[in-house]
Amino acid sequence: ENREFEIDRRRLLNDVQELKGNIRVFCRVRPMLASEIQEQGNIDHIELTGKSINVINESNKTLKYSFDNVFNPEVSQEAVFEDIAQLVQSALDGYNVCIFAYGQTGAGKTYTMEGPDDNTGSEHEGIIPRAMRLIFEKGEEKRKFDWNYDLVVQHVEIYREILQDLLDPRGDLNKKLEIKTVTKSGKGQSVWVKNLSEHPVSQFRQVYNLLKQAKKNRATAATNANERSSRSHSVFMLKIKGHNVESGEITESSLNLIDLAGSERVAETGSSGTRLKEAQKINGSLSELSNVISSLANKDKHIPFRNSKLTFLLMDSLGGNSKTLMLVNVNPTRRATAETINTLRFATTVNKCHIGTAQKVIKFD
Ligand code: ADP
Ligand code: MG
Repeated sequence: ENREFEIDRRRLLNDVQELKGNIRVFCRVRPMLASEIQEQGNIDHIELTGKSINVINESNKTLKYSFDNVFNPEVSQEAVFEDIAQLVQSALDGYNVCIFAYGQTGAGKTYTMEGPDDNTGSEHEGIIPRAMRLIFEKGEEKRKFDWNYDLVVQHVEIYREILQDLLDPRGDLNKKLEIKTVTKSGKGQSVWVKNLSEHPVSQFRQVYNLLKQAKKNRATAATNANERSSRSHSVFMLKIKGHNVESGEITESSLNLIDLAGSERVAETGSSGTRLKEAQKINGSLSELSNVISSLANKDKHIPFRNSKLTFLLMDSLGGNSKTLMLVNVNPTRRATAETINTLRFATTVNKCHIGTAQKVIKFD
């Protein structure tokens, strides 16, 4: 009986996507770390009720925010993934899918997207490895219905508005990358990155090795790993080409899994000098992301995709035929309250956006 209820709930979540258009917002509150419990005891200023999160602010006022889904600290990686598996799977059907992890540094973005270090095959595995396992599994199932897939992985980091290839075969992060557009045969433009390495994959083991390589390259690039990870966007891209050998149907889509830079404001991180400049830039590109989303929702003639590298890179996967999920990560400590409120406010504006209903692009060979 529980199981049926579960399935109904998921179907409902999926319908929410269809009704609302192609952007959804899920919120995840991470558990308190042992050191935090020692410092302040258990969570006492955040209440989670169904799809809402109540935050008691510094002046003891309760602020209420509602989203399509709210995960409490006990929700496992597996359970989080169960609620987005259908979305991931729709990338194989020809939809462009973007999943963003948004939130301040320390809120759980990397844990959610990748999992902690050395998590492969464990219950702690994050969305990227789980999504890739699912893609291989479902791709294999669809083979029985005459579908063949070509899968190519690319992985970039955007740091101070510069793109870096995390999978460069020689580990060269100074290689110059350039975002280019080509006009599609139908209408609109598609985006590609000049000089970015491409990695065809056909089994999970290969993805595992690529993720390991990306981690290694990222570590060698960073003089201060924490600073870099809090100020850069990590973009994992899967390009999917489907071909139905029976009907001749062809699909082209991408699955983008993005660990955004920390959303914290400059004033509160105590930055100064050059670091201040960097932080402003990062905040700039996050606000460009929200400008693009609201501009898409308003159906503006001009969408400011080119105002930041992140939005330019994602230009053809944020527009018309894409499904977007913003996963908002929340740090449950009292100390983080002011930033938590900023995060939830931002997420609420994103949640109000209707970009229109996603359509898959179908062509024939
Ligand atoms: P961010 O990438 O947003 O800066 P992290 O993913 O690095 O944050 O998370 C900060 C800390 O909290 C890490 O030690 C991480 O392992 C831990 N953490 C985050 N989310 C969870 C979770 N859902 N369950 C257990 N530990 C978590
Ligand atoms: Mg991180």
